[in-house]
Amino acid sequence: MRTLRPVSAILLIVLAFSMMQVNGQVYHTPLFDGASAYSFLTGQCDFGPRPPGSENLTLCRAYIVETLESFNWTVSIQNFTYRETECANIIATWSETVNSPIVLGAHYDTRPKATSDHPDNQSIPILGANDGASGTAVLMELARVLPTANRSRVELVFFDAEDSGQIDGWDWIRGSVHYVSELTPQRITTIEAMVLVDMVGDADLYLPKEGSSTDSLQNVIWSIAANLGYSSTFVDSPASSIYDDHRPFLDVGIPAVDIIQVPFPSYWHTLEDTPDKCSAENLEIVGEVIEVFVVGYDTENGTFLPDTPYVLYGTLIVVPLLLLVYYLRKKR
Ligand SMILES: [Zn+2]
Repeated sequence: MRTLRPVSAILLIVLAFSMMQVNGQVYHTPLFDGASAYSFLTGQCDFGPRPPGSENLTLCRAYIVETLESFNWTVSIQNFTYRETECANIIATWSETVNSPIVLGAHYDTRPKATSDHPDNQSIPILGANDGASGTAVLMELARVLPTANRSRVELVFFDAEDSGQIDGWDWIRGSVHYVSELTPQRITTIEAMVLVDMVGDADLYLPKEGSSTDSLQNVIWSIAANLGYSSTFVDSPASSIYDDHRPFLDVGIPAVDIIQVPFPSYWHTLEDTPDKCSAENLEIVGEVIEVFVVGYDTENGTFLPDTPYVLYGTLIVVPLLLLVYYLRKKR
């Protein structure tokens, strides 16, 4: 075997360095652990059904707050009353940070009645393992694993009163409506992205592009998923529009994306929405994508990756081409 000539050696070193640099930027290795997230899902379900105003939800709220505080987040409770029911959003920020550019949201309440179940069951509250606990579990695990250097760019919001629509005169998404109504005009201008996770735990997870989400932001997130090898879960196909907690943000001009399984799983709003329908692996897929999204946010320019994969592909294609050209020229 011939020894490498100085020029080839230099080219190889340049190749190695450029790839390392790109790796450092794009391929932040996600730390999100699906098993840990799944334990946060069952941890919520252990309290039983968690409809707004219930004792179970109060206990679950304390569990979420305690967990977030154990990871050193600053947690505040945003109380509000809806139809004579005391409700509360949970807001977590990193130390005294204000104006985080990214809001991550999920609802932690569950539907008070199994309205899609057999008529005999329709007055019984659901456990909401997927519808409620899964999105909340993803946010709790992100609170654990997000690199501390990046935490101040994120505000975590757990919405109450999302899922009681069309029951006893209730409307949907009351927690997020209240949260957005409390934002100052100045704060609204500083939120660059709102990302909602809702029903992201199904064992056969399928996440097409929800119809009312902001296209540009949605494309960034789906590209990250594709780069991580998750394009069979984050499917590049359009889905219908869902009336969900991202809507109040869109209504005030904040770019927002709803990561949600559409069509909904067959056990949606039934007593069958239980932890055995969910998988740690799929929680991990969703969590990794959001983790890479948050870490990839460019705070200086207020932009989101990835444009960088093009640099990666460029490096992978252009540098070997240069090497090939060099060798061919040497041969002549
Ligand atoms: Zn629901």
